Amino acid sequence: MVRDFWPLVVAILIAILSTLQPYSRTPPAHEFPTTAPFGDLDLSDWNYRAIKLDQHWQWHPEQLVSPGKISNDAEHKAVALPHYFSGQQHLRGERQNFGSYRLRLKLPKNAHQQNLSLSLSFVCNSATVFFYPLGSEQNQIKPILEVGKVSKESKGHSAELGRFHASLPLQQNKLHYELLIQVAGHNSPNPGLCQAPVIATGKSIQRLEQLQQINQGFIVAIILSFGLYAIGTSIAGSRNRSYLWIGSAAVLVALTKASLGNFYNLTPDESINGSYRFSFSLLYSTILLGGALILGFIHHSFKVNFFSHRLVKANLLIAFTLSLPLFLLPASYSRDLIFIVACFACVQYLLVLYLLRQALQNRLMYARRITLYTLPLLIAAPVEFAKYLGFLGENQLLVAAIVFLVVAQGLNQSQKLARVSKLASRLSQGLGDAVQKQTADLHLKNQELLKTQQELTKANQELRALSVTDGLTSVYNRMYFDRQFIAEWQRSRRDQKHLCLMLIDVDHFKKINDEFGHSAGDGILRRIAKVLQSHFKRGSDIVCRYGGEEFIVILSDSTTTQAGVLAEQLRQKVEQEIIEYLESRLHITISIGVCGLTPGPEHQPLDLLNATDQALYKAKREGRNCVRVSSAPAPNKSKKN
Ligand code: GH3
Ligand code: MG
Ligand code: MG
Repeated sequence: MVRDFWPLVVAILIAILSTLQPYSRTPPAHEFPTTAPFGDLDLSDWNYRAIKLDQHWQWHPEQLVSPGKISNDAEHKAVALPHYFSGQQHLRGERQNFGSYRLRLKLPKNAHQQNLSLSLSFVCNSATVFFYPLGSEQNQIKPILEVGKVSKESKGHSAELGRFHASLPLQQNKLHYELLIQVAGHNSPNPGLCQAPVIATGKSIQRLEQLQQINQGFIVAIILSFGLYAIGTSIAGSRNRSYLWIGSAAVLVALTKASLGNFYNLTPDESINGSYRFSFSLLYSTILLGGALILGFIHHSFKVNFFSHRLVKANLLIAFTLSLPLFLLPASYSRDLIFIVACFACVQYLLVLYLLRQALQNRLMYARRITLYTLPLLIAAPVEFAKYLGFLGENQLLVAAIVFLVVAQGLNQSQKLARVSKLASRLSQGLGDAVQKQTADLHLKNQELLKTQQELTKANQELRALSVTDGLTSVYNRMYFDRQFIAEWQRSRRDQKHLCLMLIDVDHFKKINDEFGHSAGDGILRRIAKVLQSHFKRGSDIVCRYGGEEFIVILSDSTTTQAGVLAEQLRQKVEQEIIEYLESRLHITISIGVCGLTPGPEHQPLDLLNATDQALYKAKREGRNCVRVSSAPAPNKSKKN
């Protein structure tokens, strides 16, 4: 709740701040009672704090009253300043282009020691200011301040928005003075001052004006920055067109306010193109264009199009076209154009009312919020018009309402953007976390997979090893021999290397089995296999169990002679090995057949195997426990490989 309301509170505070004036008002009657008839102001108890002289004036329409020659005529009207907007009598009747203000003052006794000054700002007309002791001779009185040219024919002349100072010529023994301001109208519907004069010591007037400048500058800066921010966010990415419209309206208002505060410091000009004219042309254009822009803002704030976009744009174009003559036509015409401006503003006002009513009836998103933001403006616009017609006194409601709308909308917009960006960062954070977690999970699973794969590979290798290993003796089995013999045969044939086979058979094994049992026989077979493995150390030597008590060895790249020597060494080794079994010391012997050749196309692997078998058979026949080397088998030409 608090989060939703703080923009409103801040907007209200800034709006109030924008209307503040550093000048103190005219003292209330009980503090400085009016002793003389109306038109007189008794300041004999004045403490010299700045006073805005906005009450008790005598107004002499259509008279450029000569200083020192004023009859205290009861017909003359008592008025409050500023008088510029309260000229209903002129709107109804004939236009009057000149007049005089008069105020009689009673000052404190030591006033002449105070270096008092008069400050005039926002003079809508040419003005001549006189200040003199009551009863002065007419020919002794000189104006203390002249702004522009004051004459009965001064219609169309320029006047100034700047600030003008004059020190008050006080005399030691005089307390009663007369302040006379002659004004001549031109561009405005009626003559008058747009802001009341202020009197104070020279120093405090300077300080107050600085304060007012700061106050005005602050408000201009706030409106301008909110305007530029809205335009920036609209252009930079937010698809919301309403920001562009309200932003443009805010910039326009800021420029006008700056112009009315005389921030542009335009040089006074005697011709029709003075700063006064520029500022008022800008003000009227702002009323025209600002209305159209605010209408656009409300139109684009809702997703439903009550009017076509083209109509809204055309409305802006009409406003722009209407505001052009304000700048181009001679000054004396511009006051006629005010009525067109007022009529157009009325149309905008009704359209805005229609839009808001439709939005509220249809319960559209933002309808209540936009209505809330626009409400002060909806009230201020007729109030301003009533002020203009003279039904209401001076007030700053319109400025406050515009400032409120711009600031509240700007703050709301920033709040919305902040929420969106917070959401986006939270989403991306969540996404990042999820991705990180998934990556970690994936990594873990990957590692598990890798481990399983390694185990599988190992198991596979073991399985493969098992499939080619003889279960009893742990040397390669017959299947492996069959495969490997062909492979070695082909390699030797390709490389033209010698290939040898060695067939080993245990002598009288049947007897051992019969005598000591099969498990003893198995143990002996295992023992012989170990001897074989340790004897053939070359990586290329392949020891296999051929079947029963027979072993076979493939020796690649060895000559038959070398193989014979190796066989003999093996035979001796086995013979020397004494195997102990159940207290018996067994002497085991083996018979070995060896054969070798360099495989060629004329040979078959089986030829070599048969020849080796023959050699073994020979060894058995010739007494066992010996090695027989067979010569290479004859080439078999009929079976070319
Ligand atoms: P020779 O000197 O002529 O080779 O005589 P031998 O008894 O060794 O020959 P024979 O081929 O007649 O006998 C082989 C015996 O080997 C037959 C069988 O009982 C035995 N044998 C075969 N395989 C195994 C085995 O795995 N374990 C055991 N304990 N004995 C086996
Ligand atoms: Mg045998
Ligand atoms: Mg045998």
